[in-house]
Amino acid sequence: MKKIILILVIFSFACNAQTVDSLFKIKGFCIAAPQPEELNRFISFMENELALNGFNTLVLRVDYNYQYESYPNLSNQNALSKDEVKLLITSAKKNNINVIPQINLLGHQSWAGSMGNLLKEYPEFDETPSVKLPEVYKWPNNEGLYCKSYCPLHPGVHEIIFALVDEIMGVYEATAFHAGMDEVFYIGMDECPRCNNKDKAELFAGEVKKIHDHLAKNNQELWIWGDRLLDGESTGLGIWEASANNTFHAIDKIPKDVVICDWHYDKAEATAPCFTIKGFKVITCPWNKADVTRAQLEMTEFFLLNSNPVLSEKYLGVMQTIWSSVTDFLDLYYSAEGDNELSGPVNSFKEMISYFKE
Ligand SMILES: [Zn+2]
Repeated sequence: MKKIILILVIFSFACNAQTVDSLFKIKGFCIAAPQPEELNRFISFMENELALNGFNTLVLRVDYNYQYESYPNLSNQNALSKDEVKLLITSAKKNNINVIPQINLLGHQSWAGSMGNLLKEYPEFDETPSVKLPEVYKWPNNEGLYCKSYCPLHPGVHEIIFALVDEIMGVYEATAFHAGMDEVFYIGMDECPRCNNKDKAELFAGEVKKIHDHLAKNNQELWIWGDRLLDGESTGLGIWEASANNTFHAIDKIPKDVVICDWHYDKAEATAPCFTIKGFKVITCPWNKADVTRAQLEMTEFFLLNSNPVLSEKYLGVMQTIWSSVTDFLDLYYSAEGDNELSGPVNSFKEMISYFKE
């Protein structure tokens, strides 16, 4: 009898593990695309850590780290070649990892004191040409400068960015594209002759729709970060994890098949249902606090187990986000030094691995 009970207990654990494992359609990891000199180490990490721990989705922030043929003037000096990307993709395919390339569109066109390649090469796309980048960047500042945006109504911008999008979608053999679109502070600015007095939610939604429709022509899916679609004031989420400039009304104006990456880093904010009840698929994204990560995993599991089939299928899973360089992340991950103030993302990632194993 004892033997039967023991077998039943083991069987029930096994079933439970399998249920949790198969519940999450997406077990994702998001990081910058590696520099050419880090490619081999990154591929080894992908094979030995991501794949072996069940991760099946990799968002790679490519931006200008590719030797573009359409607009070579936009490539970083040190950028991945087509052959190098092919090496990465061959390994990803062999390990059942779906790679989704990202180029930051609309916002994040500068960082602190340095301009991104698009506005460096095409300053006429700048939504706020009067705002000069400071030598020493500080937040807050008088101009409300976090990152520059391009003007979504400039007649020349889409021809260029869509050429880049099509090129990396081709070389990465990807079926989904991540457009970023987070933390857009500069939109519909008074100084822009095309956007001033326009509704910011309409402008944001218009840009999402334009990118979505471009991808849809090739049966490709659009992923974006979710923060601009949440109301920062009524939710108490503030100006980073949510919007303080009215873009949140765009949640009712964009196509429902855009996949929302819902990031929250300080608390496991229960915002995923805000998206699923509107018809969107959602992925919950932690960063650097292992306890928050665990709460987000448990919460996602709770939503999956306690929702009806229509809603349940919209909770796609979770994605660890890493915001340091690949080199810094891998150094920390493989370092024997243990905990320090920088190891939050590594601990969060490890928490995710152990959760999946439980
Ligand atoms: Zn504009």
